[in-house]
Amino acid sequence: MRVLLQFPEGLKQFALSHAKKLEEEGNEVFISSSPTFGACDLAIDEAKNIGADKIVHFGHAEFHHVDFNVEYVEYKIDAPLDMLTQSLEGLKGFKVLGIVTTIQHVHQIESIKRFYEEHGKSVLVGKPYGFAKKPGQILGCDVGSAATINAQVDAFVYFGGGLFHPIGALLSTTKPFFSIDPFEGKMLKLDDYRETYKRRSKGRIVASLEAKSIGILVSTKNGQYNMALAKLIKDKIEERGISAAILVSNTFDFTSLENMTEFDAFVNTACPRIATEDGDRLRKPLMSPNELMEMLEIRKAGKR
Ligand code: SF4
Repeated sequence: MRVLLQFPEGLKQFALSHAKKLEEEGNEVFISSSPTFGACDLAIDEAKNIGADKIVHFGHAEFHHVDFNVEYVEYKIDAPLDMLTQSLEGLKGFKVLGIVTTIQHVHQIESIKRFYEEHGKSVLVGKPYGFAKKPGQILGCDVGSAATINAQVDAFVYFGGGLFHPIGALLSTTKPFFSIDPFEGKMLKLDDYRETYKRRSKGRIVASLEAKSIGILVSTKNGQYNMALAKLIKDKIEERGISAAILVSNTFDFTSLENMTEFDAFVNTACPRIATEDGDRLRKPLMSPNELMEMLEIRKAGKR
């Protein structure tokens, strides 16, 4: 079988070993070297172009069904749990905890839950909205496992590396939010980021109020493509007498967007985290659809 292997950035270091193993099993193997952001980003075009029968996608669970043969190889990582003991001091006073993590550590949730229960806490594990598949699992674009239990918990604990995932959950909840990074051996309270992100969002709206032309970003990635939303947004913008165009790309390159100097602002319909995490890489404001609607409302109200 001709297969195309696809790895997220953190797992690309193991690509050759996996390729050789599959070759020994009699497959013809190719490796995608493109950036890979999630299971929303399957290399279907690359696979079709090289006549592959199957994509083997490492490190993510299925995002949604696609019309191509895809095998998902989840990557379980057994992170050390010693940070849990250290976390008890910071979690004093919080009786009910909501636990969230990424797909790599979802199999450790039971052990984490047991640990906290043995130390007098109650633990809740929420369900994702749909893109994420397992209880307690969060994605940058599916934080249902946190949001659905916000009212019942006293605090949240994210277990895993990095801040990309917990920040998404933080912004959709209102309770104290702790991140335990078992690799760095650090526990952080993230609550201050709520204000920071709110301020940045306001900044994008204010900076777009005078825009005479807006570019609408549509990604062709399987799990990010939303042309219907882009068209709706284009109509809304044009109704207000602002010029608009839909900009299509697989992965948006910020230098190329900067080169489109006729646009005064952009609005994103692709990965929802592009506007919040990468917006600052553009000199022009890059809004989320909600921020755009807020901006249009302010203009309509005659403030601009
Ligand atoms: S957060 Fe963005 S990159 Fe991650 S799975 Fe969702 S759409 Fe894909």
